[in-house]
Amino acid sequence: MPVFLLAVSILLVHGLLIGFFPAQGQYLSLLMLTLLPATAGLSSLWRARAHGPLHEWRALSLGMALWSAAMAVHLVSTRYDAAWLDVASLALFVLYGVPLTFVLATPESGRSSERVIDGVLALGLGALFAVHTQAFATLPKSDPRGILSLQLLFDIENFYILLFSFIRWRSSRDPRLREFFWRLTQFSFVYFLTAFYINHLESESAGYGSYSDLLIDVPFLLLAASALRRGSHDDEVPEPNRRLVRIVAAVSPLVLPLSLLATSALLAGQHLRLAIVGFAFAIVGYGSRSVVTQVHSSETQEQLDELAHTDALTGVANRRRFDEEIRRQCRNAFQSGQNLSLLMIDIDHFKRLNDAMGHQMGDRRLREVAKELAALSRRSGDLVARYGGEEFAVILRTASGEAAAQFAERLRSGIERLRLDAPPPASNVTISVGVSCLHPAMKGEPAALIADADACLYEAKRRGRNCVAFGSQIVGGLTPPVFKQLG
Ligand code: GH3
Ligand code: MG
Ligand code: MG
Repeated sequence: MPVFLLAVSILLVHGLLIGFFPAQGQYLSLLMLTLLPATAGLSSLWRARAHGPLHEWRALSLGMALWSAAMAVHLVSTRYDAAWLDVASLALFVLYGVPLTFVLATPESGRSSERVIDGVLALGLGALFAVHTQAFATLPKSDPRGILSLQLLFDIENFYILLFSFIRWRSSRDPRLREFFWRLTQFSFVYFLTAFYINHLESESAGYGSYSDLLIDVPFLLLAASALRRGSHDDEVPEPNRRLVRIVAAVSPLVLPLSLLATSALLAGQHLRLAIVGFAFAIVGYGSRSVVTQVHSSETQEQLDELAHTDALTGVANRRRFDEEIRRQCRNAFQSGQNLSLLMIDIDHFKRLNDAMGHQMGDRRLREVAKELAALSRRSGDLVARYGGEEFAVILRTASGEAAAQFAERLRSGIERLRLDAPPPASNVTISVGVSCLHPAMKGEPAALIADADACLYEAKRRGRNCVAFGSQIVGGLTPPVFKQLG
């Protein structure tokens, strides 16, 4: 409410200045129109620092700074009659949209390389805007093409900012971004209406210093108030439509190149060469932006794939990966006649450990055991996986049963050597291991190999735990090693 009252007071002051000082009305009005966008820009800058999102509010404040500068230059140009000042002022007006276009085109998950390319494209767009403005602003006043073309450029730019702010508002997932684009939509809607009225409906001779200037204050006052207001909007908007989010992300690399193409097309009649450069720039920009986006999405795909195959707690392979791998390895081994062994590993008395030391300590022990198993199984092609709960599985490619049993004993003694605290009567964490080796009767069936390893694990448990069972043989641990008797 105080902000609203302040905004009304500012409008009132502006109106009074025009009413009471008609001779200086134009200057005073231009001064107000320089100060208000500057205030909106400062408010946006404050907002960027206080609440974010940083890049977006900063870009908006840069846009405001350009608008304010445009007015300031115009103010100077009313005192010193220099044509270049008019052109500079118009160019600054058009350039105000460039930081906004940049923000609108950069996707929510935009990485720095994408932002850099977008930034370069936005600068290119700014340069074309400036040349376009210069080309038409310097036409003789009697030539209607100049003013019509500039009006068209302003209309396209304003509509474009409004449309994309709206789309980004509806499709942003981050609540802060959603709020930013909602406020930008409000601002650009009012700005679009105001600019349309001023550019098309007001008589050209009116100039600055009339009461219609108060209209121009409105979008900037709205933005300043909006930037200073705390957000309450976040909770009201439902999650955006996922399809829309995906479409916007997919279309975003097109936005800036398309803007460049459109501006180049508008410029083609006056500056054909520059228009061709603009076309080429747009195409190269789109190409590099797509390549970068493509590389990022394949990286993301790989990371997701990795995540989908990794056990979240222990970081070793998960059950999905184990199932895929054992199927593949069984088929390969069956076809090639090579060896394949499987170790099923179970932590002894783990329930007791959980009960006595808590589940968090249980989780920690699971991670420690998994880490040691992985460290001891570094040979390429071997796979350590969490089979489920406190059970792990190790697939050993090309290992004979005897070698696998020896390796299992290495794992068992390795865990024992860690001397991880466990509740009495056991003093340390230990594991039991069942070893199985693929043989022709199993016909390459993973289920048969797993069932056999499981049966061996059961045997190891039955014989007192902390040992390795291979068939009916017990290897290492509680019973003295009997490798020599194997085979
Ligand atoms: P045994 O020596 O016969 O294997 O006995 P055990 O207590 O290890 O076996 P049991 O199957 O009775 O208990 C397994 C326990 O493992 C029960 C369950 O709470 C615990 N567990 C399974 N997954 C997790 C986990 O992710 N974190 C923790 N902390 N505990 C788990
Ligand atoms: Mg178990
Ligand atoms: Mg157990």
